[in-house]
Amino acid sequence: MIKNIGIVLNPTAGRGKAGRIFPQVLSMLHEAGIKTLVEITEFPGQATELAVRLAKNGVDAVVSAGGDGTVNEVLNGLVQLDFPVPMGALGIGTGNDFLKSAGTAKDLTKQVDVIKLGQTRLIDLMRITYCDFEGKTAVRYSVNDFGVGFPAKVSFRVNNMKGALKGAWSYAAAVVTEIRLNKPVHLKLETPEGSFKGFYNMLFAMIGQYVGGGIKIAPMAVVDDGYMDVLFVEQLTRWETLKLLPKAFKGTHLPHPKVTHIKTRELSVNDTQELVYVQGEVIGFTPAHIELLHQKVPFLWPS
Ligand SMILES: [Mg+2]
Repeated sequence: MIKNIGIVLNPTAGRGKAGRIFPQVLSMLHEAGIKTLVEITEFPGQATELAVRLAKNGVDAVVSAGGDGTVNEVLNGLVQLDFPVPMGALGIGTGNDFLKSAGTAKDLTKQVDVIKLGQTRLIDLMRITYCDFEGKTAVRYSVNDFGVGFPAKVSFRVNNMKGALKGAWSYAAAVVTEIRLNKPVHLKLETPEGSFKGFYNMLFAMIGQYVGGGIKIAPMAVVDDGYMDVLFVEQLTRWETLKLLPKAFKGTHLPHPKVTHIKTRELSVNDTQELVYVQGEVIGFTPAHIELLHQKVPFLWPS
């Protein structure tokens, strides 16, 4: 049983939804008999250091409260300490893609129950080496996704939108723009299972099944099987993209002749500079190298 948790809240997640509904979440936790210590982020990236501070504070678990970006920042804090306590997540942001693999993304009551019961599952972890915006080699960890091409370009576009365009439809607007531009990326992929080279619309390396706010891109992914599911899509026509996208939401896109799916423990993406996307955020550029660390993250998970 978990009695005492540290929470890292990103109040701006979900365009402010997280901050608005957090008082309700807090009273659900208190009614369940869980004591809480809350740290609130004031700027992007701060959740990482707040997670470290809470983990050193004698709590039974550190829980992210926000969206997938918050999950990733908290994860990258706890990994520095090699997970002295389990990690958990309250999905009150926009996407909550990682919690979709746990089956609790839409149900706050279930998320609170999972925290209270304190059962953990040891989740695989991707260790991603890449090039940051200052041109330096950097390392980021992810429990859900890594993406190049379409997802990175959409996310980059959303983050750089100004004024009236920013809002509920910004993501859809960016998707439409990128489909219209339809610019592929040139990638050279190396894995122990083989090498691939060419023009691709997108590449994903996945631990969880979902990305981009509910796209079931890796329906066969298992969070602790020791493999990442790597999916890449050869250059599509606009029409092919429009036909494939609804299938991807359902996870029925794998038979498409331009979709390749492999399971691997290691992946190098080393060609020209392309944007790199991790759990809702564009973090830098390729070349990138991903190594899978098997069953590394004790995550509060439904039984
Ligand atoms: Mg896996």
